[in-house]
Formats: sequence, C-alpha cells, structure tokens
Amino acid sequence: MTWDAVVVGGGIAGLVAARELAHEGLRTLVLEERDTLGGAVTGHTVAGLRLDAGAESYATRGGTVAVLLGELGLADRIRVPEPHGAWVHLPHGDGPLPRTGLLGIPTDPWAARRTLGLVGAARASLDAVLPATGATLLGELVRRRMGARALDRLVRPVVGGVHAADPDDLAVDAVAPGLSDALRRERGSLSRAVRSLRASGPAGSAVQGLAGGLHLLVDALVADLEAHGGTVRTGVTVTSLDDERADRWVLATPSAVDLLGLEVGRPDPGAQVTLVTLVLDAPALDAAPRGTGVLVAREATDVTAKALTHATAKWVWLAQTAGPGRHVVRLSYGRAGEDVRPDADVALRDASVLLGVPLSADQLQGHAVVRWTQALPRPSADHARVVAGVRAAVEPLPGVAVCGAWVAGNGVASVVPDARAAARSVL
Ligand SMILES: Cc1cc2nc3c(=O)[nH]c(=O)nc-3n(C[C@H](O)[C@H](O)[C@H](O)COP(=O)(O)OP(=O)(O)OC[C@H]3O[C@@H](n4cnc5c(N)ncnc54)[C@H](O)[C@@H]3O)c2cc1C
Repeated sequence: MTWDAVVVGGGIAGLVAARELAHEGLRTLVLEERDTLGGAVTGHTVAGLRLDAGAESYATRGGTVAVLLGELGLADRIRVPEPHGAWVHLPHGDGPLPRTGLLGIPTDPWAARRTLGLVGAARASLDAVLPATGATLLGELVRRRMGARALDRLVRPVVGGVHAADPDDLAVDAVAPGLSDALRRERGSLSRAVRSLRASGPAGSAVQGLAGGLHLLVDALVADLEAHGGTVRTGVTVTSLDDERADRWVLATPSAVDLLGLEVGRPDPGAQVTLVTLVLDAPALDAAPRGTGVLVAREATDVTAKALTHATAKWVWLAQTAGPGRHVVRLSYGRAGEDVRPDADVALRDASVLLGVPLSADQLQGHAVVRWTQALPRPSADHARVVAGVRAAVEPLPGVAVCGAWVAGNGVASVVPDARAAARSVL
C-alpha cells in the first residue's frame, strides 16, 4: 500500500511529527529500529521504581513542550524542580552554580564569587565595561568577556553536562539561540545579554518535568497517534526510501543524510554518554547535601563522572514514590572524545565524593547502566554547516522534511517545535 506519510525514527521528533500528520487525517506510519519508542526519552525500572532512563526534564523556553503536554492531557502532571540549586565540583572544593545564568554564564559574576574566587569574579565582572567583542564559538566568547575561570568553573562543566561537549567546539548560535542578538542589544555585555534573555523567557523555573517521569510523554504520544489512525512499527531499520511507498517522508534521524544520498558532510555523532542510576538506602541524603546535583569541572580528577543528578532531591514526586530515606542518584559519564565504561562500583564511589556522604555497596538497592550512542549530537560549527547543507538540500524536495535534535539542537524544547514545523511543511 502507499502511505500518506512515513516517518523514519520513533524518537520524540518522529512521534511528534507523526502525530501532527495523523491529526490531519493522513495515513501515517512510523518506523523505529529499536524495540522501544521514544529514543532518548524512555523509561526503565530500577529497584522497583519506574524512572527515566534518558531525558528527565525539558526547558520551559518557548512554552511549546507545555502546550504539547496540555494537548495530551498531561498538564496536571507538570512539576517544577525543587529550588535547591546545583553545585560545581572543583579540585579545591565545591561551589554553587549561579541559579539565574544560561549554560553556566552568570548574570551577576559577584554572586558566583564562592565558585570563581575573588580574582575570577573580578575578571568576569569586567564583562560589563569591556568594549563589545563578537565570537562564533561559545568558549571563545566566555573567555573574552569573562575570563578563563568563568569558562572552566561554570560554563565548561554545565556545557559538558548538557551537551557532552566542550564550549570551544560549540557555535554560540547553535547552543544559545538569541544570545548573539541580545549581545548586540546589550552593547557586548554577556551578563546583561543573559539577563535580558532570561527576562524575556517564561517566569519561574527554566526546566520542568512530569510526575511519573518524562517518558510518560512517549506513552501519551503513541496512544494519541494510534487513536488518530497512525501505525507504529518497531524493530525496523530503514535503509532506503524504497523500503515503503509513501507520498511524504519525514526523516527524524541523522541517517536522513544517507537515505537521501546527500553529499553535505557527516552530522556530528555526539559523545558516547553512559548514564548510571543508583537507588540507595541513604537517609544521610535527605538533607540534599549538593542540592539537585553536581557538575564536574575538568580540572577535578578525583571522579570520572561529568555530572550527577540527585533525582529525589530534585523532584518531590519521586522522593514521595521512593519513600523515606531512599534516594535516586543519576551519574552521567562521557565527554566528547572519551570512552569510559563505568559500572555500579565506580558510580557509587563517584557519588560518595560528589555528594560528600560515604555510600557503601550494602546501601545499594538497585542500579542500571544505560549507554547512549548518537543521542547527543555536538552542535559544533562543523555540525552547524552540515545541518545548513541538509536544510538547503531538503527544502526544494517536495514531500520530504527532516527533524530531530541533530538538526534542531539537543533537548526536547528544541525538538518539539521543529518536528511540528517539519510535519506542517509536508502537508
Ligand atoms: C542521557 C540523556 C539525557 C538527556 N536529558 C535531557 C533532558 O533532561 N532534557 C532535555 O530536554 N533533553 C535531554 N536529552 C536530549 C534529548 O533527549 C534529545 O535531544 C531528544 O530526545 C532527541 O530526540 P530525537 O527524536 O531527535 O532523537 P532520538 O531520541 O535519538 O530518536 C531517534 C530515533 O530514530 C531511530 N532511528 C535512527 N535511525 C533509524 C533508521 N534508519 N530507521 C529506523 N529508526 C531509526 C533511533 O533508534 C531513535 O529511536 C538527553 C539525552 C540523553 C542521551
């Protein structure tokens, strides 16, 4: 049979695009190579707790994810994280991360004095008076405006945690949409530019999650898609557009480059990220000693993890589900170019160091190690060029669209509006 639309890739991008098409009455097929749907948004069960195995929150910027959740009947499950703040792990001790920044860039360098030190804070505050200087790469921009300490102690750890990449490899426009314009408006000051960007976003927390876990979004999307006549097949790797007959194709995977035979270079595959989840009987963690979590500065060599999320300190619903004294801690491993293969023992040791609380194997009630490949494309300047080439090549093709984090940027908040736009473009 000929489908009205075939969507390749059953991650959030593919599912959102497919739902959009099915809502327009199109006979829509989703093909997903894994046995599970949702891609990097998926759930697993650890020590009897249903948890997110990949993404666990979304940025509120743009409001598009909340709108989608509302359409899917999930609005009453939206939760904001506890306002404990997060920390940076440094060789000489830990320091708090600025709460109001963007990718670790502080809006007020003096408020980050404990983490930057006097000299670092003084250097960063020169940003307010230095003549305007532009930069294409994020690392270069922060170094020029705020100095090496702000880069090493704040921005590099946050960017490593969010994008599994180094700020010196990332294009400003790809990771911080709107920042270049804000810099021009604010006569070059990075702290003022970040402040104005934050002020123009929605009030309140910069991220939200779902009671029960973000993976509930996938279940709701699939149910809604199928209720509107959509068909989903898992365990199918699409290798050619001849695999199915269709009037429209939405390619929600970087394999679009091969499927379309585009000669635009390779999209960045991203780092190999491993997420280790620990469920612990550890009442000492009730006090949330490091707030919602810790990002690790590169200079700190006493742990191999690059970030830790104290999930039961971050989400009240999860603390209530876990019960008194039980804690969920997620550690992520793998910066760009690294190939680390952590296990529960390594993660337990890292968690003890990062949380500043002794944790032993007999407190471990369960654990999971999930390895993600090609799940966090690094938005480097090279990658941005490839994406521009893909967009230019696909635009004139009738009935073909691409979407997903590889073209839209990492994060559910980037992926959702882009996938909706991709679906509309083939209607
Ligand atoms: C560990 C981790 C934690 C994260 N945490 C957050 C977070 O807290 N908040 C946030 O906003 N973002 C987070 N992200 C990023 C976010 O999850 C992703 O940006 C987003 O889910 C990407 O969605 P996608 O549909 O574009 O891609 P994917 O989720 O990668 O989906 C693509 C799908 O296409 C399938 N596929 C590929 N090729 C083919 C083919 N040829 N045929 C058939 N199927 C194919 C793949 O199997 C996959 O399921 C995290 C990512 C990771 C890895």
